[in-house]
Amino acid sequence: MTPKTPLFEKLALIGIGLIGSSIAHACLRGNLASKIAIATRSPETLGEAERLNLGSSYHLKTEEAVKDADLVIICVPVGAYETIAKTIAPHLKEEAIVSDVGSVKNAVIRQMKPHLPENIHFIPGHPIAGTEYSGPSSGFASLFDDRWTILTPLKDSNEKAVQKLTQFWEGLGSKVDIMDANHHDLVLAITSHLPHLIAYNIVGTADDLEGVTQSEVIKYSASGFRDFTRIAASDPTMWRDIFLHNKDAVLEVLGRFSEDLAYLQRAIRWEEGDKLFELFSRTRSIRRSILEAGQDIDAPDFGRTKQKDD
Ligand code: NAP
Repeated sequence: MTPKTPLFEKLALIGIGLIGSSIAHACLRGNLASKIAIATRSPETLGEAERLNLGSSYHLKTEEAVKDADLVIICVPVGAYETIAKTIAPHLKEEAIVSDVGSVKNAVIRQMKPHLPENIHFIPGHPIAGTEYSGPSSGFASLFDDRWTILTPLKDSNEKAVQKLTQFWEGLGSKVDIMDANHHDLVLAITSHLPHLIAYNIVGTADDLEGVTQSEVIKYSASGFRDFTRIAASDPTMWRDIFLHNKDAVLEVLGRFSEDLAYLQRAIRWEEGDKLFELFSRTRSIRRSILEAGQDIDAPDFGRTKQKDD
């Protein structure tokens, strides 16, 4: 339900790519902030955001955008957080909520917390929603609808501020879970980071494979490869930063993955079809659970065309 009075007087979005612009669209749709200040580092991206009418003011200086903002959301690749925290810290309004959308959480806390003043509320967050596209034009209002957003408040985070941020994300269409940052990083390492690493690797291997031409890879891609290429088309800067900043959790799940892969390798070598069949039946039921939970739709192409067009 659209609130009559906006939840926040002024929202500042630092970074206006896929996620920042989708927040702006959904915030306008839900009337969640009276003003939206947008900051990004390049005049080209800022101009694109302005043409799309995403905010009420546009800034190349982040410190100008956060002035008087009661909610600040950082929406840039996670490798850039420390510089931003240092820049905005002296200009934050007292009692402002400072949050983010970064795909890793411990590294974000490590980079930002030491620089932020005591009189603000720092509550990291991560919407589990996205596409392989980047930039302000790729955003859309329904991106967060029925998807989860994870908030990882610190031990001393103010309960009222956490509630208000929860309300904001619910207003954007999201469902909200609260989690410890360590747990978030482990869960996302298996559900998001490892799948991306596998996709980057398989597409790279196919590209390097002698004896199979690139035109054959493209021509016969609908046999499975195509689905990996979508993930492997994700933004290189963002994903480089994710792997460098969630190193421990990714290496942990990668170790488990390699052991399980060796088990499959052995089952194929020794023609142990029952082992393969047992695993493939188990994994099929996971897919069914995802559909039942409304996190994908049962349409050819995994419903992606539908989701983008919505
Ligand atoms: P994006 O579309 O590539 O946009 C990135 C934004 O960050 C742009 O405004 C860009 O500014 C700015 N930026 C890039 N590098 C920067 C730097 N070194 N210093 C300052 N600003 C910089 O990215 P996105 O997909 O919205 O991702 C933003 C954040 O959301 C990331 O932390 C990512 O982990 C997280 N996230 C992404 C997804 C996803 O599926 N994409 C999902 C959930 C969370 P200019 O264009 O002006 O250079």
